[in-house]
Amino acid sequence: MMITWRLVMTSVLASVLLSSLTNAAAPLQKTQAPGYYRTMLGDMEVTVLSDGTFPMPVGKLLASIDATDLSAALTRSFLKDPVEASVNGFLINTGTKLVLIDSGAGQFFGPTLGNLVHNLRAAGYTPDQVDEVYITHLHPDHIGGLVDHGKAVFKHATVRIAKAETDYWLNPDNLRGAPADGKSGFENANAALKPYSTSGQLKPFTGDQELIAGIRAVTTAGHTPGHSVYVVQSRGERLVLWGDLMHVASVQFANPSVTIVYDTDPATALVARTRIFADVAKSGEMVGGAHLPFPALGHLRAVDAGYTYVPVNYTSLKIH
Ligand SMILES: [Zn+2]
Repeated sequence: MMITWRLVMTSVLASVLLSSLTNAAAPLQKTQAPGYYRTMLGDMEVTVLSDGTFPMPVGKLLASIDATDLSAALTRSFLKDPVEASVNGFLINTGTKLVLIDSGAGQFFGPTLGNLVHNLRAAGYTPDQVDEVYITHLHPDHIGGLVDHGKAVFKHATVRIAKAETDYWLNPDNLRGAPADGKSGFENANAALKPYSTSGQLKPFTGDQELIAGIRAVTTAGHTPGHSVYVVQSRGERLVLWGDLMHVASVQFANPSVTIVYDTDPATALVARTRIFADVAKSGEMVGGAHLPFPALGHLRAVDAGYTYVPVNYTSLKIH
C-alpha cells in the first residue's frame, strides 16, 4: 500500500514538473520586426526604411475639418486621436547609384524616431555607401538623420534640395523674424545641413529636373516653400515619393481638402495635393509617403470626391 502511494506521489510530482517545463511562460518580446521593406521598380531596387512612429495629435494639427467629422473618419479606420504616425525614408538602388530620399528625424524629434540608419544597416547597406540624399523639405523629421551629434552621417553623399527650400530655411533674417516657438525649425535646418555645406556636398537645385537617370524632382510648394516630390522611373514603371503632400491617411484620402497646421501655405499645399492625387489615381502609378503607414507604398483609386488608398500587396517574389 505504502509503495503504491509513493509511486502515485512520484508520478504526480513528475507530471507537475514536466508541465511546468513544457508550459514555461515565454516572455513577450515587445520589439517590432526590422523596419525595412523591399520591392523592385523595373530594374531598380526600392527599400523602404522605417524611422519609427510617433503619436500624432490629429485633433490639434488638422485644419478644415470639424471635431465630429474627424472623429467619424478615425472611427471608420478603427483609430483614435492621437494616431500613431509613421516616418519613412526610401532607399533607391538604381544599379549604379544608391540614393536615399529623406533621412528621418535623427535626434530632432524624440526617442521613438531616429531608427532609419539602424534599419538601413539591417537592410544590408551602410551609410557610407549612400551616393546621394534627396530631401523633400527641411522639416526636422526629414533631415535630422543627416547628422549625428553635428557630424555628417552620409559621409560620401551629395545632398540635394530645392533652392527655394534652402533659401527660406537658411536665411538668417527668417530665423530672426520667427516667433520664439518657430525658431527651432530654422536652427534644425542649419544644424542638419552644416557639415554638408561646409564640405561642399550640399547642392541645391532649381525647378523641375532629372537629378540622376531615373529620378526626377517635381516642385510641389505649399507644405513648405520648396517642397519637392521625387519621381522614380525604370522600365516604364513609376513610383511617386510625395514627402509631406499628406499626413493622415485615415482622413485626407477621403477628404483631400483637410490641411495641417505645419503647412507654410495651406492653400498652395492643397493645390499640390489635389494635382498629384489626381495624377496618380489616373495613371495608376505607385506612391510612397513619408507619413503613410509603413511600408508606405500603395496606389490611389478615385472614389466620389476623394480617394481610397490601396496598400501594396506583400511580395517576396519580386526581389528574387
Ligand atoms: Zn513630415
